[in-house]
Amino acid sequence: MRQPDRDCRTTVVMAPHVIALIARLNTGMRSIGMIRARSESASATRELRALKDTLTTRQKLLTTEPTRPMDEQSRDMMLRDIVCPFCSLCCDDLTARHNGRHLEVADNGCAQAARGFAIEGPGEGLHHAQISGTPCTPEEAISHAAILLGNAQQPLFGGLGTDVAGARALLRLADHCGATFDHMNSSAMLRNLLVVQDSGWMTTTLTEVRNRADVLLVFGAGIEQHMPRFYQRIFNGDESMFAEHPPARELVLIGNFTAAPPVDASIRTTLIPCSTTGLGDIAMGMRALLNGATLQAETIAGVSRERLQTCVERLQAARYGVVAWTAAELDFPHAELAVQAFCELARSLNATTRCSGLPLGGNNADHTFAQVATWQTGYPTRTSLAGARPEYDPVKYNGERMLRDNEADALLWVSAFDNRRTPPHTDIPTIVLGPPGMQPGRTFDVFLPVATPGLDHAGHVFRCDTVAILPLRGLRQAEHPAVSDTVNALLKRL
Ligand code: SF4
Repeated sequence: MRQPDRDCRTTVVMAPHVIALIARLNTGMRSIGMIRARSESASATRELRALKDTLTTRQKLLTTEPTRPMDEQSRDMMLRDIVCPFCSLCCDDLTARHNGRHLEVADNGCAQAARGFAIEGPGEGLHHAQISGTPCTPEEAISHAAILLGNAQQPLFGGLGTDVAGARALLRLADHCGATFDHMNSSAMLRNLLVVQDSGWMTTTLTEVRNRADVLLVFGAGIEQHMPRFYQRIFNGDESMFAEHPPARELVLIGNFTAAPPVDASIRTTLIPCSTTGLGDIAMGMRALLNGATLQAETIAGVSRERLQTCVERLQAARYGVVAWTAAELDFPHAELAVQAFCELARSLNATTRCSGLPLGGNNADHTFAQVATWQTGYPTRTSLAGARPEYDPVKYNGERMLRDNEADALLWVSAFDNRRTPPHTDIPTIVLGPPGMQPGRTFDVFLPVATPGLDHAGHVFRCDTVAILPLRGLRQAEHPAVSDTVNALLKRL
């Protein structure tokens, strides 16, 4: 359940076509849609102007010729307002230089984006279709892959890094083959999903954080590693759509960090060092203090009780507090209990003020696959389509465990965004759909090069808060088919 926008009291007059546009664009800016149409105050006019600017930008993104890639005559062009697909922050302000096949981030990127855009350099690795290491035509490779999948009794689909169209095609193929599917990032995703399934959560959106949050409490030190531009884009000192003067912001970091994040100098920052495995204990201790309990311990996970009490008081005094974490960083047994503690802390704060959770992180379109799988099958990942109905089991259908225990007899691995994400070592027949340049250090039974969404062809991916789906553009002439095209061709041969 997402938290209602209780403080949104300012109201504006909106024409019906603007309201309809909001609904149609589905930008995820929930707060905009919740502005009630009554008052004509000066601030309302400002908000309406900001709203129109946002909608215009969104509309430009959605209508900017997304499907027509650049041809060879478009060399040395600067491409602007590009959506980056290389982490789930999905920054939509990148500028790239296009020169033949070569793409280079020219502005507003990060090291992760720079590597992603340069993914298809010439050189070592796999660049052409192969059967057992021998070059072949794509048609021959697809025919051979169809034979391998057709002979399998318990195929496993892994990796699954692709856009919405690729995910839909893969689920159709999985349904046809009776396959089990498990995204390469499932272990991290499930730390959040298990909490949603068990007790629910109250979360907010990136837009709300950017425009309204005044206190951001971060459990862990991994945001920059997983989303390098998070602080720059979402939590800085000078941007707010709904206020002339943004709220004074404060950042509280609890985790195993080595340096303060690069935040705006106007943001008051407090660093509280502790081990990653102690984060759940600290959140539970803070909740106990919030609820008026008396803690016997002087310290929790190395942090003094007084220090935690100060944090609790700061969150209680906030107008819009946010508790954030990155599930991929919580790589220890039963880390979902730590996530649950973060969520319960945020929930308890709502007794007297407003506070929401903010799960961050994600790459290789893990949120995208989970969304598509959920609307197609009812489950986000680790699901078998072998029976009469989808069967979800996060332990039984753990792909790595299935391979280890010989419970799969063919593996289809898809990684369209990252040629470093290769399949686990296995002796069973392995079919790989990957971007050119993959260097697995071994041969696959079938390798099929595929295009990268957002570089070679248009597509869609979900942002980490899953309220916005971002349109990707084709930036250059694709040399290989999209995952969806390859999978559909495979399905036709079965
Ligand atoms: S932070 Fe993520 S989405 Fe933004 S430019 Fe870097 S890799 Fe791309």
